[in-house]
Parts: sequence; structure tokens; C-alpha cells
Amino acid sequence: MKPLALTVLALALGSARADGLSATERQIVAEVKAHAPHGLALLERAVNINSGTMNHDGVRAVGKLFGEEFAQLGFATRWSDMPPAMRRAGHLIASREGKQGKRLLLIGHLDTVFEKDSPVQLWRRDGDRVRGQGVNDMKGGDVIIIEALRALHRVGALDNTSIRVVFTGDEEDAGEPIAVSRADLVDAAKRSDIALAFEANMRDQQGRDTGTIGRRAASSWQLKVSGRQGHSSGIFSDSAGYGAIYEAARIIDGFRQQVIEPDLTFSPGLIVGGTDAGSDALGAAGQASGKSNVIARTATVEGDLRYLSYEQRDRAHAKMQAIVAQHLPGTSAGISFRDAYPPMSPTAGSLAVLQVYSQASQDAGLGAIPALPPGQRGAGDVQFVAPLLDSLDGLGATGNGAHSPDEDLEIASIERATIRTAILLYRLTR
Ligand SMILES: [Zn+2]
Repeated sequence: MKPLALTVLALALGSARADGLSATERQIVAEVKAHAPHGLALLERAVNINSGTMNHDGVRAVGKLFGEEFAQLGFATRWSDMPPAMRRAGHLIASREGKQGKRLLLIGHLDTVFEKDSPVQLWRRDGDRVRGQGVNDMKGGDVIIIEALRALHRVGALDNTSIRVVFTGDEEDAGEPIAVSRADLVDAAKRSDIALAFEANMRDQQGRDTGTIGRRAASSWQLKVSGRQGHSSGIFSDSAGYGAIYEAARIIDGFRQQVIEPDLTFSPGLIVGGTDAGSDALGAAGQASGKSNVIARTATVEGDLRYLSYEQRDRAHAKMQAIVAQHLPGTSAGISFRDAYPPMSPTAGSLAVLQVYSQASQDAGLGAIPALPPGQRGAGDVQFVAPLLDSLDGLGATGNGAHSPDEDLEIASIERATIRTAILLYRLTR
């Protein structure tokens, strides 16, 4: 007992700003700090296993590595296989049942965007930063979850808590159908009160760490336009009309002029047009043929649409449909929409969770945590559960260059995030 008490005392004296913490919380902070090297070593092992979404053996190997850690902390662990036709590795699920405090869902992912054939970027330490595939997106976040739980375990604070952890194996390219690939996540959410996701922390413009209470939905649209094929010299006449390419240009420029509003974006990413033209089923490639002296008969545009709430989506769809319907003479057009990720709309409940997190950070001397403006990040797994319960994301580490070969991570951000998380989990489960 004595050495521990001294450690706690030294910590209390050494960090005068951290006096918002209880005695147990100070012990938790001391445990996080004592085990920081272990966490970094665990991250190195995870990063050096390639786990591109389609490298199923690699995804399972990272799942095994992390699963062993959860088992050591008293969690029941299992692997959830996906149907073979879905061609995804499956998910790691760890859970413990108790009756005390809020029931928590902690979300991470095992896969990265770096497939086996991408240029190898192994672990490399560079002063106070480290590099490697998936180091920050999001193996760093996974390690923060494990190390925060470890600190709670070591002071006996996990006893009688109810915590579910889902590390998906296909976050970067979710298996279809989504209803199957996200069933474990949704099922865990239905048995939880609060979801916490550990995608990378993002800094705001003042350089402060932030929390994410809103993420925009990702969806796509396809515009198909037809015109009357004919000699180019007759264009603009009543009989020939304007052709499919002018009509497509009118429509997408109409979107730009009339549909833009805060937190809403829509981007045409692929356009093909001519006498014959089409894009493939995924909207990722197209072909076209035509001649400068022939009025274009067809055009197709593939685009995305990101929105913060279903009301915003419906408003955007209605405006876009109305623009599409104002056909130029001799043309016709139709637009179809396809939802992918639901929106994580900011709610009072999620803001309240962020406030507990921010207070934990302040009490530990690590500063207040503001909400990140929702327009500033892409889609993530938390969005599949956010409609069901209060949710907070962005609790992971801090780094640069996610999804690029230059991805790196600031080592000190792991300890910072782990301390905040451990105190948050402790307070939510009392
Ligand atoms: Zn991620």
C-alpha cells in the first residue's frame, strides 16, 4: 500500500491543476502513466500487422492481439464471423455485465485502408511521433480503449460495470448489406446507454483537442440525362433541342447556385456524356463516345451528398429534384439518391456526455474539450448507433495524414486521451 500512496501523493503535488480528481481518480491517472510504455508496445505490434479491410487474416490477427488484452481484463470475448458472400473478416466483441452506472458501448475498428499490396509503412519512431499503417486510424484509438480499461481494472473500478466493446473489421469499407455488417454494433447499442467511439481526435482552429457530437451522413446520387441526337448545327432549335450535356451542366450548376447551405455538401465526382455514355454500377468508372458535330444523346453524373439531419437531406432532395425537373427544350432527366451512412445529429444528450468528458479533462489538468464543428469530418461507424443512444466520437489519438502513406501520431496524445477516457468511464459507471 505504502508505495502506491506515495505515488499518488507525488502526483497530487506534482500536478497542482489536477486537484479536481478524487483519490481513486488520481490512482487511475497514475496507472495510465505507469503503463504508457506497455500501450505504445501494444500499438507497435498492432501497426506491424497489415490489416487492410480485404486482408482478412490480418484483420483477424489484430483482433486476436486485442482480444487477448480484453480477456486479461476480465471481459468475455468472441469473434463474430460475417457470411462468406460478404467477403469481410468479421468483428471482435468483448463484454462484461454488471449493474452499476451507465451501460457503455466502446467502438473501435481493426481494419485500415492499407491493403497488402500498398507500399509497406512499418512502425517508425521519429522523436515524439510515430508512423505506420493505421497508427492513428485507428489502432491508436483501440489502444486508448484497452489502456483506459486496464487502469480501471488495476484499481478495481471495473467491478460490476456493464461495458461492451465492438472492434469492427470493415469500418473502412463496410460489408454489404449494411444491415448484416452493422448488426453486432446495433445490437450492442440497443443494450447500452452511451456510445463512445475512438476515431482520431481532431484539433479545432485554436489547436484545442475536440469531441465529436455530429458527423454528417454520407449518401450518393446519380443523374441520368437524355437529349435528341442530331446535327450539331441545329442545336438550340425547337426541333433539335439543347442536348444532354447542356442539360447536365444546367442541372449541376443549378445545384451549386441554389442548394448550398451550412453543413450540406454535394459533389459531382464523375461525369460522362456523348452519343453513347455510361458509368459502371459503382459509379467509379465510365466510358463515352461522341463527336463534336453530333448533339449529345446521353449524360450521366455520379455524385455524393453529405448532410447533418434527415430534415436537411429531405430539403436538399426536394430542391435538387425541382432543379432537375426544369428541363431544357428537347431533354429529359432524372435523379436517384442512395443513403449509406445515417447522420449523427448533435443532440442535448450527446452534448451532456461531451461535458462530462470535458470536465474530466479539466479536472486532470488537460483543458476543456469543445465540440468539433460537424462539417469537419467524414463518416464513421458511430453513425450506425448514434440514432439509438447518446454518442461521442473523436476520443482517439492525435495525428496527421490519415488514409495517406504519411499517417503519423503524436505519442503524448495517447496518454492524454487515455487519462480523459479512464476518468470519463469511471464517472459514467459510478
Ligand atoms: Zn477510422
